[in-house]
Amino acid sequence: MSLLRHEVRGPELAANLATVQDRITRACAAAGRQPEEVTLVVVTKFFPASDVEQLAELGVRHVGESRDQEAGTKIASLPEHVRQALTVHFVGQVQTNKVRRIARYADVVHSVDRARLVTALGRGVTAALDAGARHTPLAVTIQVDLDLGLGDRDSARGGAAPHTVLDLAAAVGAAEHLQLRGLMAVAPLGADQEGTRAAFDRLMDLSGRLRAEHPAATWVSAGMSGDLETAVSVGATHLRVGSAILGSRPPQR
Ligand SMILES: *Cc1c(COP(=O)(O)O)cnc(C)c1O
Repeated sequence: MSLLRHEVRGPELAANLATVQDRITRACAAAGRQPEEVTLVVVTKFFPASDVEQLAELGVRHVGESRDQEAGTKIASLPEHVRQALTVHFVGQVQTNKVRRIARYADVVHSVDRARLVTALGRGVTAALDAGARHTPLAVTIQVDLDLGLGDRDSARGGAAPHTVLDLAAAVGAAEHLQLRGLMAVAPLGADQEGTRAAFDRLMDLSGRLRAEHPAATWVSAGMSGDLETAVSVGATHLRVGSAILGSRPPQR
């Protein structure tokens, strides 16, 4: 990155981050919640490690990535003190054959949506622990598919059908080095604000049922740049915000 880009990028990220933090504070006030109840995960996919470093300097402690190869390289290139300060969340679809690498660098995987992936992650984390590549269990949320099966299903978004979530939770709970933390979802494709709220309400209902069986599984990861206020208002605990902080990404393939 050129020196010039570095000089303008810091202030730009700082300003965007402040705007998002202000949105979160206002949304919490409107919902009668404390901002400390909400964790901001800054999604840095498509943006360079230098941005992650600048965000860490600005006080960001949670970053999210969704593309395995990019993420592995980026995280490995961070200076040790930056890596140490960060919790790395993998929020994208996980292909089973990519699990071994993700298990080495991710602290949290948000997108667990099938039994085979639970098995593969359990093995991957065990291997990473044995190899000394990680020293902690892997925190996991189960991704729920909130689309109602109307229109085309976008398989790239993934997510487990709601009626399968409790079985998946039991599988995660039984895996030795996985820690079940809660649920994650993306608003249905094309939903307006009301549709998003209705979908997030269904997610909160499901979260209540999950917590009845797994009291520690309190996280609800929902809300992105466009719908974080709605997510905060229903009770989300984790927001995954990318473009509102980093700017727009190149069109996704
Ligand atoms: C990219 C991404 C985000 C961030 O989306 P923005 O709209 O840029 O805030 C959140 N969650 C997932 C799963 C993503 O892939």
